[in-house]
Amino acid sequence: MRSGTCPKCQSNEVYHNAAQGGLGAGVKAGDGSPLLSIHTDKGGIFGSNFEMLYFENYVCQSCGYAEHYIHDLEKLEKLPASVNWKKVSA
Ligand SMILES: [Zn+2]
Repeated sequence: MRSGTCPKCQSNEVYHNAAQGGLGAGVKAGDGSPLLSIHTDKGGIFGSNFEMLYFENYVCQSCGYAEHYIHDLEKLEKLPASVNWKKVSA
């Protein structure tokens, strides 16, 4: 999908909304993209180990298929230690 081709219908009418929300920005949704967060302590957004995650969204105009990626992959390094994400058993 990131290559511009829909994996479901092979259309090239794929659109992308770039992630927004600057580094160290406050808790806001930027352009309205949904947000996720990683907490590694119980302090929630007031804790010291809190990361906001911004989505990159890809949508196919032809069939409506959509994919979402977390913009900052390095932030996902905190997933194993987080209190609000659990690894899915294979
Ligand atoms: Zn499609």
